[in-house]
Amino acid sequence: MNQSLSPAPDAPALEASSPSPADFGFSVERRLDHGTSRRADGAGLGRVGVIRTPHGEIQTPAFIPVGTKATVKATLPETVSELGGQAVLANAYHLFLQPGSDIVDAAGGLGAFMNWPGPTFTDSGGFQVMSLGVGFKKVISMSEAAHESAEVIARTKERLAHVDEDGVTFKSFINGDRHRFTPEISMRIQHQLGADVMFAFDELTTLLNTRAYQEDSVDRTARWAVRCLDEHARQTAERSHRPYQALFGVVQGAQYEDLRRKAAGGLAAMTGAEFPEQRFDGFGIGGALEKRDLGTIVGWVSEELPEDKPRHLLGISEPDDLFAGVAAGADTFDCVAPSRQARGGTMYSSSGRINAKAATQRRRFEALDPECDCYTCENYTAAYLHHLFKAKEMLGSTLATIHNERFIVRLVERIRASIIDGTFAELRDEVLGRLYGPEFAREAAARA
Ligand SMILES: [Zn+2]
Repeated sequence: MNQSLSPAPDAPALEASSPSPADFGFSVERRLDHGTSRRADGAGLGRVGVIRTPHGEIQTPAFIPVGTKATVKATLPETVSELGGQAVLANAYHLFLQPGSDIVDAAGGLGAFMNWPGPTFTDSGGFQVMSLGVGFKKVISMSEAAHESAEVIARTKERLAHVDEDGVTFKSFINGDRHRFTPEISMRIQHQLGADVMFAFDELTTLLNTRAYQEDSVDRTARWAVRCLDEHARQTAERSHRPYQALFGVVQGAQYEDLRRKAAGGLAAMTGAEFPEQRFDGFGIGGALEKRDLGTIVGWVSEELPEDKPRHLLGISEPDDLFAGVAAGADTFDCVAPSRQARGGTMYSSSGRINAKAATQRRRFEALDPECDCYTCENYTAAYLHHLFKAKEMLGSTLATIHNERFIVRLVERIRASIIDGTFAELRDEVLGRLYGPEFAREAAARA
């Protein structure tokens, strides 16, 4: 290391460049005066805000595109930025297996490695370790019926993940190697990956786990959270040459109000055991949710969490869920669905989903969604997209991903604007009415 680059030990510049929790922040700019879920002071739970990170700001509410292996599949990072993506979320587990978190560290962190200058998030690996490990489908389904079928799939597979008090042992889905994730290991991997926002290592449960198991799991996740705070403090001190990385605690508790409130309140008050000054910078809301309860559950959690820290709802992008989540106090969202569905030819549109491969698209010489402002819709026709998918051309995935990601990013931008100008309910009724029908929109309004 070139010593001339390091300031003298007592120079003020050292303190200014040392990573500090003050380098990360969140401010609420406007509140949603709407909904039956309210804070004790009478204010609504939904809000407009700004998350400040060492790599830039995120205007919230915001949808964060997922770049699992340090790429939003089929798109350039520049394109993700152009379509309005303010941050990218990558998966610690995937990057740990390939190329290895040490490689990403040596490259200067996730953003530098993938040429993404803006804010980055990594998840803890807990979701992938446990969902892939037990053989569940990649996306944890939100309906119990689908869960039962996923469980059947799991039973036919070798069980690949085992949870104990200290952590999780699992087999790599790439080559079958045995690995172990603990709170400390997840923190070290996420520090090497270098994202602006990291998540504490938590245990994923499903709606099929018993109430007793959910109780044990929430308690275990809380003990793991304390260990994450301690290891985070150690890593932050050891890696003072790198920008501050914020750590979010993850609220579990499935569909149980008492467990969700206990988990959220516990994380809100939690400090490290060895480092009592170390606290969470924000919170993730994870785990098993039934779709119809999403707003209710997020509302319970938001009521327990502090106002001045951001809340990330993990793995959610369906339009009705975004409206419900925002109204209940969630600030940011991520999900693989928009890009995964795009690569399969399932396209979002203002009037509902369109199958790009359907014969109805073959001679449609207009934009896939004439109301969309994305690069694909402004430059290409539905007929061309149909052709690319039928011919299995790679460009189909690229153009489709640009559209779907823009559709969801823009929807959340519009939700943000509607909170500012006081038209949230009108926007929700209009968007959901056109996507799912007027009956559905009335039910969604009644639940809010
Ligand atoms: Zn479009």
